[in-house]
Amino acid sequence: MHHGINKLLLLGAGHAHVQVLARLAQNRPADLDVTVLTPYPYQTYSGMTPGLVAGRYSAEDCQIPLEPLVKAAGAKWLRGRCTGLDATQQKVQLSPTGKGQTLPPELPYQLLSIDTGAVIDRTRLEADMPGAPAHALIVRPIEVFATLWPQVMAQAVLRPLSIAVVGAGAAGLELLFAAEQCLRLHGAAGARFTLITGGPEPAANYAPGVQRRVLRRLKALGITVLRDTCVGMDHGVVRLGGGSELACDLPLLAIGTHAPAWLQGSGLALSETGYVLVNEYQQSSSHPNVFAAGDVATRADVPHPKSGVYAVRAGPPLAANLLAAHEGSALKPHHPPKNTLNLLSCGAGHAIASWGPLHAEGAWAWAWKDRIDRAFMAKYTVGVG
Ligand SMILES: Cc1cc2nc3c(=O)[nH]c(=O)nc-3n(C[C@H](O)[C@H](O)[C@H](O)COP(=O)(O)OP(=O)(O)OC[C@H]3O[C@@H](n4cnc5c(N)ncnc54)[C@H](O)[C@@H]3O)c2cc1C
Repeated sequence: MHHGINKLLLLGAGHAHVQVLARLAQNRPADLDVTVLTPYPYQTYSGMTPGLVAGRYSAEDCQIPLEPLVKAAGAKWLRGRCTGLDATQQKVQLSPTGKGQTLPPELPYQLLSIDTGAVIDRTRLEADMPGAPAHALIVRPIEVFATLWPQVMAQAVLRPLSIAVVGAGAAGLELLFAAEQCLRLHGAAGARFTLITGGPEPAANYAPGVQRRVLRRLKALGITVLRDTCVGMDHGVVRLGGGSELACDLPLLAIGTHAPAWLQGSGLALSETGYVLVNEYQQSSSHPNVFAAGDVATRADVPHPKSGVYAVRAGPPLAANLLAAHEGSALKPHHPPKNTLNLLSCGAGHAIASWGPLHAEGAWAWAWKDRIDRAFMAKYTVGVG
């Protein structure tokens, strides 16, 4: 045992933590006791979810089964959700998500790592967009979204649906293109699609050249673009900031995400928007025995966009630093890349590739994304049992 730190608790099994588990599977110190608290027996890979909506992937294609990975890592899995954290007392509060399972109300830790992702907070959503939690299909939690999508398709084969996607970032656009493709190929003829951007141009966070490509594609597919905000919803109706109402069968909500509410009052240093503030070691700025990576964390030194690509990149350095914290050896800084390769899928079979100011598109870009995504899944699904 080193420095008495031999109890590691991993919250969530996000993109970074599956890599921590794989690293532990290769070589876990015998005196390190590892527990994983996460609500589902699999990790849904968001990058492939638009392919699921498009009908190209099965649900299993998009899931990393966690039990074999946790077992290979010599860790213990608690099926539940973190609901609170006291960083001074070094305890988390939790609630079970498995049927018939009893869990202690609190878990102590010596070393904590958080990779629970960002959320769409239903309370904040109701305040900003009254009616949305009750009437919209919400993209997060992605596990729930993936389970509900087949119900939409069951309706779409019976009659032409009108779908309004709220949110014109990468997730909203990819889901819109995927849904349009799936309903065109497999749904009743005459489905209609509207994109509600919140005000700006679609793909506003991308280079202007990518925005132009996205707009061309939306136009070619006959998708209506409303540069307006959504201010509320009712049954069959989306209310817009400009005062008008849009009738639609299904509002699909893919707006920006929030920090989990349970971080408030944890005692951890948080960013202005409530995410765990971490330093160059992915270590909490306030509590050296707490680490965080992925969308739940914000780097104090080099803030970067919240995306799966950055969460994946943080995995190996996070694993190394958790082991170093256990051993009492020096931590190593993680340098997130300035630019990342972005592959925006426009339905299965076509994608827009961009890297900094450079951009191009075609079937090749989708094939590239498909290869990268499948390779990531295979790495953590196969050969770890
Ligand atoms: C439709 C869609 C498509 C996307 N496509 C891409 C893409 O192509 N490329 C890209 O870079 N990004 C993409 N993103 C963004 C990407 O999903 C996120 O940036 C990424 O998931 C962040 O990874 P993470 O590890 O932080 O969290 P997540 O992947 O969200 O994982 C969080 C984990 O924590 C668990 N968890 C959640 N809450 C709790 C809790 N309270 N207690 C315990 N466990 C908990 C979850 O079950 C899950 O296992 C997409 C997002 C969406 C919605």
